[in-house]
Amino acid sequence: MSKRILITGGAGFLGSHLSERLLSEGHEVLCVDNFYTSTRQNITHLLDHAHFELMRHDVTFPLYVEVDQIYNMACPASPIHYQRDPVQTTKTSVHGAINMLGLAKRTGATILQASTSEVYGDPELHPQPETYWGNVNPIGVRSCYDEGKRCAETLFFDYWRQHQLPIKVARIFNTYGPRMQPDDGRVVSNFIVQALKGEDITIYGDGSQTRSFCYVDDLVDGLVRLMNSAGKVTGPINLGNPVEFTIRQLAEQVVAKVDGPSRLVEKPLPSDDPTQRQPDITQARDVLGWQPKVPLADGLDATIEYFRQLLTRTA
Ligand code: NAD
Ligand code: UDP
Ligand code: UDP
Repeated sequence: MSKRILITGGAGFLGSHLSERLLSEGHEVLCVDNFYTSTRQNITHLLDHAHFELMRHDVTFPLYVEVDQIYNMACPASPIHYQRDPVQTTKTSVHGAINMLGLAKRTGATILQASTSEVYGDPELHPQPETYWGNVNPIGVRSCYDEGKRCAETLFFDYWRQHQLPIKVARIFNTYGPRMQPDDGRVVSNFIVQALKGEDITIYGDGSQTRSFCYVDDLVDGLVRLMNSAGKVTGPINLGNPVEFTIRQLAEQVVAKVDGPSRLVEKPLPSDDPTQRQPDITQARDVLGWQPKVPLADGLDATIEYFRQLLTRTA
């Protein structure tokens, strides 16, 4: 049955793909975004869709609309973006969560939180299961994001315990694909853009730190499955690709694919940069019947093609 679905941060990288997916299933999508880290370009192709509505709004302020489901995706996600105005980042996570939970409480909507692997901080347990409480610096440069997201999880579970709200918490691990911002500093977009421009590939530290990269289509499928899971399923549930790579391996793969003149150069490692990260997705497999399908090599091809066209258009 067709639902009215609110996506906060709906013009962002993940939000725009999620909008497309939900529209293709016949739902009505209300996209709420203040364009802090995105542009209308991401959703221009949806603006004429009869079931798509765009509202410019900052989620740190109350919002009164009538919906059946809420995907709370609004939050700057790349370290460069979330550290630019760290107070606003925490406000977006915490005040934004309070407002969206208040909205869910009033309307009876099911609400899904886009949480993050950053709640595990620099993990001492590897791979990370949902039962791990994490190793987060509460006062470092990443804290505005990590602690904001942790507090949002707390709020979700307190609204669930106190008000019996139907909640779903997804802990999203590094996700990549078309419509990442070329200048948002995340590693996949950085390396691809550098390789396409023939610039040096900037490896922070010695490149031995690891990440596990999930292609956007897989991630969106996991979010939709979680939202539509049985009422008793609250999460938190890890969504990510468990195949782990070092950052140097990623750089080498991108350079080989683009086949340009770029060299790998080492730059200082940012503080509190997690040394390893890999999701344990046993729960997602068992509870949602979900696991990623797109290998990094294929996802990189699609993402490189996207940035190649983008750079040609803007050249
Ligand atoms: P993004 O920056 O592309 O999208 C975030 C969107 O939220 C942007 O459109 C931005 O303008 C909007 N936004 C920010 N502050 C807002 C506010 N106060 N009010 C309204 N809109 C606001 O990032 P993304 O990668 O699409 O991430 C989406 C969500 O998923 C974020 O909550 C992020 O923390 C989470 N997440 C993403 C990843 C990933 O690898 N992409 C990993 C873990 C978690
Ligand atoms: N809120 C909102 N939209 C709604 C309902 C509530 O934005 O449709 C906001 C409201 O501003 C409030 C917050 O959500 O500050 C939390 O709402 P809740 O009902 O939980 O708490 P209370 O209103 O009692 O503070
Ligand atoms: N990174 C890098 N070069 C870059 C951008 C990032 O080596 O140009 C590293 C970064 O230090 C981190 C990893 O790649 O170890 C992933 O960074 P990203 O910002 O994409 O995500 P997060 O650190 O939040 O997982």
